[in-house]
Amino acid sequence: MTSNTSDTHENADISRILIVDDEPHICNALRRLFRADGHIVYATSDIKEALDCLEKETIDVVISDQRMPGCKGTEFLKQVQERRPATVRMILSGYSDVMDITQAMDAGTIYKFLMKPWDDSLLRANVREAVSRARELHRVRQESLVDKVTGFPTREHVRNSYRVFQSEAIERGDVVTLIAIRVDQLPSLFVAFGRKAGEDASRQLAAALTRELGAEWVLARGEEDMFLLLTKTSDPAERFEAARKHLGTIAATPIRVEGESIRLTLSIGCAFDSTNALPFDSLYDQTHAAVIAAEKDGGDTMRQFDLAQRRASRGFLKLEGYLREAVKANIIDVFYQPQIDLLTGSLVGIEALARWTHPELGSVSPGTFIPIAERLGLISQIGTLVMDRAVCQAAEWLESGLDFGRLAINVSPSQLPANGFVTELREILDRWGLAPERLVLEITETEVVRLSERVTNALRGLANLGIGLAIDDFGTGYANLSALSELPINKLKIDRSLVPSPNKGQRAARLFANIVAMANGLSLETLAEGIETPEELAAVGKAACRYVQGYLFSPPVSAGEVGRMLHARDDRDYGTTRKFRDFHIDSEILVA
Ligand code: C2E
Ligand code: MG
Ligand code: MG
Repeated sequence: MTSNTSDTHENADISRILIVDDEPHICNALRRLFRADGHIVYATSDIKEALDCLEKETIDVVISDQRMPGCKGTEFLKQVQERRPATVRMILSGYSDVMDITQAMDAGTIYKFLMKPWDDSLLRANVREAVSRARELHRVRQESLVDKVTGFPTREHVRNSYRVFQSEAIERGDVVTLIAIRVDQLPSLFVAFGRKAGEDASRQLAAALTRELGAEWVLARGEEDMFLLLTKTSDPAERFEAARKHLGTIAATPIRVEGESIRLTLSIGCAFDSTNALPFDSLYDQTHAAVIAAEKDGGDTMRQFDLAQRRASRGFLKLEGYLREAVKANIIDVFYQPQIDLLTGSLVGIEALARWTHPELGSVSPGTFIPIAERLGLISQIGTLVMDRAVCQAAEWLESGLDFGRLAINVSPSQLPANGFVTELREILDRWGLAPERLVLEITETEVVRLSERVTNALRGLANLGIGLAIDDFGTGYANLSALSELPINKLKIDRSLVPSPNKGQRAARLFANIVAMANGLSLETLAEGIETPEELAAVGKAACRYVQGYLFSPPVSAGEVGRMLHARDDRDYGTTRKFRDFHIDSEILVA
């Protein structure tokens, strides 16, 4: 490597040019040419040497040959682009390798393509132009390194020095740790007082951070109004805690905006890289995600980046997309679970339960997808789909002489306020010719307490049609009895968590018995959900709970399977199956 000068010029007016060509005489000719124009010229035939030079010197313009042994000029310039984006890159070649050159031009890897043999004055003019372009790029880059509002270094700046920071951490056995902070009130400040006030608040916070935090922290300002605190430490948890204390002190002091005293709260996100191998942008992205998590939790709090949470969120997003597609394509299925009357031992009802099987994910539980559907506003569509299919199926069974008793359908309260719900339900019943008395709607207890006046009225309307109403998952919410007595309810479905069993002890048994007694007092039927064992069945029967549902009798099954069960039951020849009669409980238990 040779240059025409050995001293390092800090003068911005002096331009530095790097020439890379495998033919030494070309290197020499170009060196002479540009030197004459006052440029500092570096020339080499060795790619590695060229990259070293770029590392050490601020090169304005690189001029590279295209065909060199072991490396194409465009490939070399791509590396230059990654390491020194502000350096202007040109190819000077005797061959126009059209594909490579066009691709490199399109990717912004090269600025210009110049032909060999060259015309001296034309080449000099091109290089002069490239130099002034490099200057402009450099100026813009310098500007992007300082935040205009706070004077703090920008994310760009921190990114540039990050590699050194990281290697220092490795040397000392430390871990690079990044904290990002956003003021919870900033959007409101912008709205209430305008941009200038928001910026003023940011400046005050910057000053407070500088005052409070010690030299072990690098302070910077990222995009989207985030402050960044970068440090290296052997104990990230301890450092987070220290930062939290300082930030608490800062937030406790109100700031002044247009004469008003305003107290700020902060959402703080933190992440550390125990591998010391993560690129800065990835760590930045993790703290950003942690800040958003803190904000989602209501702000005024600190969250650490959580990889498991990120994976879960990713899965969740995917799931949302899949669910939208499934609903659109009508591929939500319905299964049915029998309900048994312990007094007679026979099937007296079936509950329709939505089922979704995704080709990749397999079967997705309604416990997972129903809440998502509610949030995405898809629950009405799913509700309609289930209702239509189940009512159609029920009518078909009756037509074939198969009596299933009553059909229970789960309703999410977000379906109810829609004025169309009652009309739609009547339409479906009419369409398939099912009597309203055949239908029971299940609403979970947690939701019953939140029902509005309008929904309550809608439920009364349904009850007037003869449709039954059951409270689902009773015992998991806090429904008070007065709320229940105001609603036209016929049935309490007691949640599996309250079902007594020998290992749950006497208290559980007494609680369950009391709930049943209370329901009986209100003339409500009681059904125990999720009966899995004969012991649970016996305990439930002892408390005089008349109806049951659970795996002990049957899991939710397809319509075809229910049809077979109903056939078997109606078959007077008990040689086939006595599935439900086998579970007949002596009615004496019920009155014990
Ligand atoms: P749910 O209405 O309380 O339904 C009973 C749940 O308990 C069903 O879960 C059923 O498979 C399960 N189960 C039945 N027997 C047993 C048992 O012996 N042991 C245990 N551990 N579990 C039993 P599934 O089908 O996963 O449904 C979960 C919930 O999703 C339902 O609870 C219901 O709240 C909701 N859901 C299901 N389908 C629909 C629908 O079409 N619309 C609405 N809005 N919600 C639905
Ligand atoms: Mg239910
Ligand atoms: Mg339930």
